[in-house]
Amino acid sequence: MNNQKFIERDLATVWHPCTQMKDHEQQLPLIPIKRGEGVWLEDFDGNRYLDAVSSWWVNLFGHANPRINAAVREQLDQLEHVILAGFTHEPIIELSERLVALTPKPLTRCFYADNGSAGVEVALKMSFHYWQNVGRREKTRFITLQDSYHGETLGALAVGDVALYKETYKPLLMEAITAPSPAGCYAEAGESYADYARRQFVQLEALLAEHADTVSAVIIEPLVQCAGGMRMHDPVYLQLLREACDRHQVHLIADEIAVGFGRTGTMFACEQAGISPDFMCLSKGLTAGYLPLSVVLTTETMYQAFYDDYTRLTAFLHSHSYTGNPLACRAALATLDIFAEDDVIARNRRLAQVMAEAVAPLAELPHVGEIRQTGMILAMELVADKVSKTPYPWQERRGLAVYRAALKRGALLRPLGNVVYFMPPYVMTEAQLVQLAEIAQQSIIEATEV
Ligand SMILES: *Cc1c(COP(=O)(O)O)cnc(C)c1O
Repeated sequence: MNNQKFIERDLATVWHPCTQMKDHEQQLPLIPIKRGEGVWLEDFDGNRYLDAVSSWWVNLFGHANPRINAAVREQLDQLEHVILAGFTHEPIIELSERLVALTPKPLTRCFYADNGSAGVEVALKMSFHYWQNVGRREKTRFITLQDSYHGETLGALAVGDVALYKETYKPLLMEAITAPSPAGCYAEAGESYADYARRQFVQLEALLAEHADTVSAVIIEPLVQCAGGMRMHDPVYLQLLREACDRHQVHLIADEIAVGFGRTGTMFACEQAGISPDFMCLSKGLTAGYLPLSVVLTTETMYQAFYDDYTRLTAFLHSHSYTGNPLACRAALATLDIFAEDDVIARNRRLAQVMAEAVAPLAELPHVGEIRQTGMILAMELVADKVSKTPYPWQERRGLAVYRAALKRGALLRPLGNVVYFMPPYVMTEAQLVQLAEIAQQSIIEATEV
């Protein structure tokens, strides 16, 4: 009963993201959340939902985590915010030192922004500007991958490839060069993910050979293209890419905004390929879902190409009002403390195994085409026909029906089109993962019955 009050007030003024607002008239419920605790969200009617998608992939250690709460509270009494040009503060210094220590060695410099898309903008502009500064003025373009997603500001959207978000705005966007997908879900029957990645890399190599003179950087989501449908590729693709970028003098931008901070089984996805990018973008899990913050780590080579007398236009002047906010930095430091103290990565390995076993029976369902997993990301692709793997047409996509069915059963399982996935907070218990798999099973059955 209490939910209703908030729903009416909300719909009178709030315009929600990623939503056709008319859907809220009928098929899409709007749920006002009163409080969160651990993996649970609770609405004003007292219903509880297991947060299986970490509130859009940001929450790592549960809602209202006592350790992060305490750190943010303490910071609140000390310093809430200060301009970061000409001024600095302790949380940002400590955070930068710790990020440099955690990420691959060549990354020594941290540039901050306040959300993932803005972080991607920073990396694109910095890469382009580097080539301007060193006199390679014709290097102005970017190579991206099929199905990639890098955010929704105009620059980030331009280097993404999800038609749903991009199509309308095409006239506003710079033109990127798009390489075919390395994702194993497109492999031929019997072909391994690694073989497919190698085969697909040949085409990216050809694009580099043809366009390297005018290309500034290749941007990639390492190991898992998340918003594009949780499409996963073998680390060998990243190794080949790193080597080719060096050979062709093109930067490599690793967008680890979704996959960083333990999501794929290692602290950063690039580690699984043993490579280091020229730019690494981090956000989402950086503050464990507490406050908006992003950072781009880059190398000494980049930094030095901007270091000069101010009279020349070589400085990187990009800025946001809330850049490097101290509260957000303190939330990030508390997050890194938990990683350091709790052996999170090892625990995640066990959880990933439990998740795989709990979901394995769902492979038998008549409309589950593929189950794929990389660490703490597990995705189930729903298909119209299991044998031929024919996808559901867009008009008949089943995601929304699964979403509604799962909500009824007490789980927040927001799919991407026909891809139902788990991307849970790392504090989910083994029993809760089993419960989640049962909810997913019942919900998929309900949503795919005709
Ligand atoms: C979410 C995401 C972004 C954009 O981050 P926002 O904070 O939503 O702007 C960029 N890249 C990847 C890989 C993401 O998953």
